[in-house]
Amino acid sequence: MRATALLAPTLREAPADAEVVSHRLLLRAGFIRRVAAGVYNYLPLTMRVLKKIERIIREEMDRQGGQELLMPIMQPAELWQESGRWDVYGPELFRLKDRHDRDFALGPTHEEVITTLVRGEVSSYKQLPLLLYQVQNKYRDERRPRFGLMRGREFIMKDLYSFDRDEKGLAESYMKMHEAYNRVFQRCGLRFRPVEADSGAIGGNESQEFMVLAESGEASILFCESDTCNYAANVERAAQINPPDKAKEGLDKLTEKETPECRTVEEVTRSLGIPPQKIIKTLLYETDTEVVAVLVRGDREVNEIKLLNLLGSLRVDLAGENTILKVTGAARGFSGPIGLKGVKIIADLEVSSMANAAAGANRDHFHYINVNPGRDFSIDILTDVRMVEAGEPCPCCGQKLNEARGIEVGQIFKLGAKYSKILGATYLDESGKSKPIIMGCYGIGVTRTMAAAIEQNNDQDGIIWPAAIAPFHVVVVPVNIKDAEQAALAENIYERLTAAGVEALLDDRAERAGVKFKDADLIGYPLRITVGSKAVSEKTFEVKTRRTGEVSMVPEDKLEHTVLEMLRVL
Ligand code: ATP
Ligand code: MG
Repeated sequence: MRATALLAPTLREAPADAEVVSHRLLLRAGFIRRVAAGVYNYLPLTMRVLKKIERIIREEMDRQGGQELLMPIMQPAELWQESGRWDVYGPELFRLKDRHDRDFALGPTHEEVITTLVRGEVSSYKQLPLLLYQVQNKYRDERRPRFGLMRGREFIMKDLYSFDRDEKGLAESYMKMHEAYNRVFQRCGLRFRPVEADSGAIGGNESQEFMVLAESGEASILFCESDTCNYAANVERAAQINPPDKAKEGLDKLTEKETPECRTVEEVTRSLGIPPQKIIKTLLYETDTEVVAVLVRGDREVNEIKLLNLLGSLRVDLAGENTILKVTGAARGFSGPIGLKGVKIIADLEVSSMANAAAGANRDHFHYINVNPGRDFSIDILTDVRMVEAGEPCPCCGQKLNEARGIEVGQIFKLGAKYSKILGATYLDESGKSKPIIMGCYGIGVTRTMAAAIEQNNDQDGIIWPAAIAPFHVVVVPVNIKDAEQAALAENIYERLTAAGVEALLDDRAERAGVKFKDADLIGYPLRITVGSKAVSEKTFEVKTRRTGEVSMVPEDKLEHTVLEMLRVL
């Protein structure tokens, strides 16, 4: 490929609305152009990267026995009504009508379509297991589409669905995909980590996310510092170790104290001279069906995902002033568990170990001290409902948890019989008994993986592609294209490298060398070969490694061999 023929419009400045590095660099280096919020044109350099990522993914899915198919993006509403998700999925689902006023959705994921396909075509245990996948545009009307390819409203995903006879089969399929995902991200040249994850709206009971480690990641990960323990979890999911036994102090007399204008834990701490660890924080939450009170220690935060899963509801939101007043009889900031009527009291595990604590008195400007769970109020549900923090003990081995930021590039789920039961996808086993097919689903964000690779591999000059997914391996830069000898030699080198299987780009533009070098660094080709007067006179080429900036002088007869060797480790 010649640069004069390539549509890669580089920019000097990044557009002001690009917040993260990958977004800025994709725009500046001429990889993408915006069409609408979260909707982009993928220019030729992007297509080259995406094709490489997709190829790696296809090879690894096929290696595990996956079969590629392609399902429609446009899905009839009836399928979503049948699964019950037409109402549940909410505004994220792109909905449209055909000319006959029939409802459709643009697929954000394909459980409904594939389960009904398999329902129609599979009837016997002999046809299982099946691993079916596609690579396709997905549509999600995200609340905040942003960060370029990181969170689009139209994006490319690989989604695979597994169909097994039983849980044992599902465990095998899940393991296969776990291995495939590890191989995919390794081959893409990324630093990543599988972590335990919440299974969210998709449902199911076991899930892991694959996180590319990068400071800019939206996800927070907790992982065990011990080399021998593999525990790592999304902070949404991270579990706490069992709390210490109940404090062995004598129980003091429950006393009401005036705490004027003290609404926050900090204010109560100051007013009562009691540390946050001795305060029971009471938060009221509203779901679609009820109001609940959630108790955590004053220095902790409620984990709303754990709460949502516990309640099995569609949403949980902090209750508003009116609800708080109605339920507690007091304003926000004075809620407490004592005497609270008509709402379920859900307490975090730690709360049961607390003794002589402070809590709101459900009376404006008053708190209680010497509050004791069991004696002064009862707990309806005692469970792990708080955020775990870095520095706490690992729930597996007790060593310390560390924190890292990550970008979720893939997620795998055990769905079990959730969709097959609702949609009636069954098979006959060896004894002729009808059973639900046991399913799993497994997604990789192809476009997000590309953005994550940039987030992890860049410097002040631009992108640094891992060789496996670079748009080109090498850029050949004649210093002065008007010098006939340089131009001819550069052309010759380019042809030879191409013949040797190296993906080379010849920068034959009539630009100053400095401009071409800047673009080479910005676009991020792993290697740059400079063809200047020295190369002409001495038949030796300067090969620069983008990642390290190292320059090697390579004689002409060793060029192909050396370039191939260098690419192997980049
Ligand atoms: P997130 O929590 O980031 O919104 P998700 O958990 O909803 O993502 P999944 O349903 O697990 O996403 O989809 C599988 C993969 O698709 C994700 O791991 C991610 O890589 C990718 N993906 C999901 N939403 C988007 C998006 N809006 N833009 C780009 N890629 C996405
Ligand atoms: Mg996910």
